Amino acid sequence: MEITPFLEEHRIFRATLSKFIEREIAPQVERWEEEEYFPDELFRKMGKEGFLGTMIPTKFEGAGGDYLSGAVFAEEMSRCGSAGVSAGITMHALIVLPALAKLANEEQGQRFIIPGVQGEKIGALALTEPEAGSDLAAIRSQARRENEEYVLNGSKVFITNGYRADFLLVLCKTNEEQGYSEFSTLIVEKGMKGFEIPRKLKKIVWHASDTAEMFFDQVRVPVANRLGQEGEGFTNAMVNLEWERLIMALGSVVGAQRNLDATVSYVRERKAFGRPLAKFQLTRHKIADLATRIEAARSLTYHCLMMLQQGLSCTREASMAKYYATEMAKRVADECVQMYGGYGLMMEYPIQRFWRDARIGTIGGGTSEIMREIIARTMDL
Ligand SMILES: Cc1cc2nc3c(=O)[nH]c(=O)nc-3n(C[C@H](O)[C@H](O)[C@H](O)COP(=O)(O)OP(=O)(O)OC[C@H]3O[C@@H](n4cnc5c(N)ncnc54)[C@H](O)[C@@H]3O)c2cc1C
Repeated sequence: MEITPFLEEHRIFRATLSKFIEREIAPQVERWEEEEYFPDELFRKMGKEGFLGTMIPTKFEGAGGDYLSGAVFAEEMSRCGSAGVSAGITMHALIVLPALAKLANEEQGQRFIIPGVQGEKIGALALTEPEAGSDLAAIRSQARRENEEYVLNGSKVFITNGYRADFLLVLCKTNEEQGYSEFSTLIVEKGMKGFEIPRKLKKIVWHASDTAEMFFDQVRVPVANRLGQEGEGFTNAMVNLEWERLIMALGSVVGAQRNLDATVSYVRERKAFGRPLAKFQLTRHKIADLATRIEAARSLTYHCLMMLQQGLSCTREASMAKYYATEMAKRVADECVQMYGGYGLMMEYPIQRFWRDARIGTIGGGTSEIMREIIARTMDL
């Protein structure tokens, strides 16, 4: 029997979203992966159906859903068959819009959140820089205040949705003081003078998602585009990271389960030495081992989800869930390719894509090394 944290309302939401994904996304993913792109139109379609506002308060035309609704969204998007599509949509709907909704004033809500919920404007989150990934406090992008504007200089890299985004939440320094209070978040908009996105980055993972580098050369950002208070950017970014890490854990569990299910079907059919692979004890035990690891990751992830849902701080548990689930998914994907043999490496079998995509889990959103560092710190080590 399955014990689940989800209620009837979440079950209904899951069924509706899953039908949409089956109809509008799943049939296209092979083509979009091939083209290394998915159309902006998908945001608009999802906006029209109300999906993008899942976690956004009703005052900004969202559905006012809780963390459990967000988790349903993350899980179903991860089932769509393209981690790239899932990454782009999830970044916008579950990370950028909720981060905005926490701090935006009425005017910012009208300009960015409502069009974001409708899928008319697409958002991105720009923290990482060429010289600052794990060590975010080392970021150099700097915004100097001149009357009612900030003048922003610097660069960002590896930004999901960066190429297509209409607006980006950019973490930068806004004063010369030492420590975490020197950072603020500015909303930078497409078309602002001096804001350049020279290219999409070519990568081996998430083919359908756009990942960009960008430069800010004397970009004049109105003070009205500052999200929250000056000096609170770093703390706000850290708080949101708990949820972002949990989203990655949720996606990893779903992805690993899908890979294992496909592999179980494969080893039942594929024969060697006169019998199905599934009849070899080594194969059976390997599968039992992977199934156990998936369940362990799911339990840890749902435990952390319930903590967030109940308003508890879960920095430690979110780091554990992200660390364990992404490492587990990487291992499951690797073992699954092994059980497919040579076919596992052929482009016509999606398992090779799932194997590549599983590789980003232990790097993006905070590496496994950093997750272990955070966990150790909570133990006063
Ligand atoms: C496809 C993709 C999409 C992304 N999307 C976004 C996005 O939308 N927005 C965004 O802001 N960022 C994004 N990122 C960036 C991502 O979060 C960073 O890549 C990640 O945080 C790691 O930073 P880094 O790449 O600079 O690695 P580094 O920080 O240079 O780390 C390199 C290696 O050193 C290790 N290391 C670093 N510090 C320590 C330490 N103290 N102890 C032990 N080992 C250590 C790391 O674990 C890693 O193995 C994305 C990345 C990718 C690949």
